[in-house]
Amino acid sequence: MSLQTNFICSAAIATHTAIIANQSEIESLDQAIGDGDHYINVLRGAETVAGMIEELAPLPPDEALNKIAMKLLSTVGGASGPLFASFFMGMAKTIKHNGGNTYLDTAAAFAAGVQELIKRGKGKIGEKTMLDVLIPVAHQFIFSAIENKTKEEICIDIKAAADKGLESTRNLVATKGRAAGLGERAIGHLDAGAKSCQVIITEICILSLKSNN
Ligand code: ADP
Ligand code: MG
Repeated sequence: MSLQTNFICSAAIATHTAIIANQSEIESLDQAIGDGDHYINVLRGAETVAGMIEELAPLPPDEALNKIAMKLLSTVGGASGPLFASFFMGMAKTIKHNGGNTYLDTAAAFAAGVQELIKRGKGKIGEKTMLDVLIPVAHQFIFSAIENKTKEEICIDIKAAADKGLESTRNLVATKGRAAGLGERAIGHLDAGAKSCQVIITEICILSLKSNN
């Protein structure tokens, strides 16, 4: 398998649909401990990328990912726009280098994307952000690929890591983003960015199981 641009395009469409399907949960989480705009920001991003598939289709995967990054940077506001853009930039750089020809190559590119996002937001694990999903998923993806697991097994492992990471945000105090000012009052709520990442990752796993990517 290799990461192909047609998979990136299908993932864009599937992500858009999945974000809309999870509107009420994503929206209510950012309303509870953020400023309530996370759903709008993620929807704008998902809509924009889904609207790009015709211009992305003829490009090699690294160029398609870079184009997505640039577009997200100019269209999505809030903290999450530049963070997601950094993710795609990091992923593009590594795919250009390794070609994304194996699950391990794709896992390495995903991890590089997460690393760029960490750099941009100066974040780490345990701060009640999307990183509490993205970092464990990046690690799990690499571990499962190194163990030469099948696509089905890799997807089950990744989904479990995303679910567990999301749930881990419930009892954390936020030290990044707008929820940081709430102190203990944020305890008991999941983080909105972690939820949107879990939704997107789950959807891309389902899509991958249905395709030859
Ligand atoms: P804003 O915080 O500007 O309102 P959004 O509502 O779109 O932007 O995004 C909020 C989400 O962004 C949070 O739920 C959290 O997951 C994530 N986030 C915020 N700051 C950071 C950071 N420095 N590093 C990683 N993720 C962050
Ligand atoms: Mg917000």
